Amino acid sequence: MNPVIAVDLGATNIRVAKISGNGIIEKKISALTPAFPETPEDITDAIIRMVRSVAGGKKISELDGIGISAAGPVNSHLGIVLNPPNIAIPAIPLAGPISEEFGVPVRLINDCPAGALGEMYFGDGKGCRDFVYITISTGIGGGVVSNGKILLGRNGNAAEIGHFHVDTRYNAVCGCGCSGHWEAYVSGRHIPDFFSHWCQEHNIVITGDWARSPSGIFEAARNGYPGLNDFMVEFSRINARGVSDVIVAYDPSRIILDGSVILNNSDLLLPLLNNYVDRFLPLPEIMVSRLNGLAPLLGASVIAHGYDTAAGSLLAGDE
Ligand SMILES: [Zn+2]
Repeated sequence: MNPVIAVDLGATNIRVAKISGNGIIEKKISALTPAFPETPEDITDAIIRMVRSVAGGKKISELDGIGISAAGPVNSHLGIVLNPPNIAIPAIPLAGPISEEFGVPVRLINDCPAGALGEMYFGDGKGCRDFVYITISTGIGGGVVSNGKILLGRNGNAAEIGHFHVDTRYNAVCGCGCSGHWEAYVSGRHIPDFFSHWCQEHNIVITGDWARSPSGIFEAARNGYPGLNDFMVEFSRINARGVSDVIVAYDPSRIILDGSVILNNSDLLLPLLNNYVDRFLPLPEIMVSRLNGLAPLLGASVIAHGYDTAAGSLLAGDE
C-alpha cells in the first residue's frame, strides 16, 4: 500500500501527517485551528496548505488518498462537518474541496470513531471485539467497536457520548446548547466554568489565575488546596455517571481513555473514576491509550486507504 495523508481536525489543533500502510508516521505537522474562522475556506485552505507541506516533493496524486478525522458531528456520506459545538461555523465542506484540489479520494470520519479505528489497528483495541474509545479533551466523544465492527449510525455520529445527560443539580450549559451534558462538566473547555460554579455553590472564594485552566485546578487538587478534594469527588461522580452510561449502553470488555484531560491527569482521575463508576454490569478493563494522542490521526490513515476496513465496510453503499 502507498502512504496516505491523514488529517485530524480538532477544535484546538489541526494535525496533518504522511503515514505508511502499516501505521508508521513518516512526517507530521500541526497548527492551531483558526480560532474565529469566518468562512469554511478558512479551515479548508489551512488544511490544503498543511497537506502540501507534509507531502513534500511527492505528488499527492500518487498517494492512496486522504483521510480526515474531524471533531463532529459530521456527515461522512457528504464529507461535511456540521454544527460543530466548538467551531463557530454551521457547515464545513471538507472532502469535496480537498479532493478537487488534489485529485485523490478524500474520506471523512468523526474523530471519535477514527480514534477507535486507530486503537483497533495500531493500539490496545487490537484483537478486542468489544471496546469503547473515549476521548476527554476540548470536548468529549466516543467510538464504539461492537462484535468486531465499528458503530457509525446514519451519518457517522453513533457515539456522541459527550452529550449524554449526566446531571440535574448544576445544569451546566453545553456547547451544543443543552444543559446537564457530560461534556459541560468534564471537558477541558468547560472544567474551569464548572469549578467556578461549584465554588459559588459552596461559598468558596478563589484568588489567583490557577482556577482558569484544568491543569491549574488539577494541580491544586494534587497539592491539597482546601475544598479541592470535595470538588474532585463531585467532578468524578459526574465523570463516572458518563462512563457508567457508556458501559450499560455498549457492554464493552475494554474502555480506552484518551484526550489531554485524561493523558495529563490519569494519576488523579482514574482512581476516582474507579471509585464512583457503577457495577451494574461487570466492570470492563479501563485503560489509558498508549498511542500518545495519535489514535484519531492513525484512524484517519485507515480510512484514507478506503472505507472497507477490518472493522467492516464503513458507510457501506456510499463508495
Ligand atoms: Zn451537549
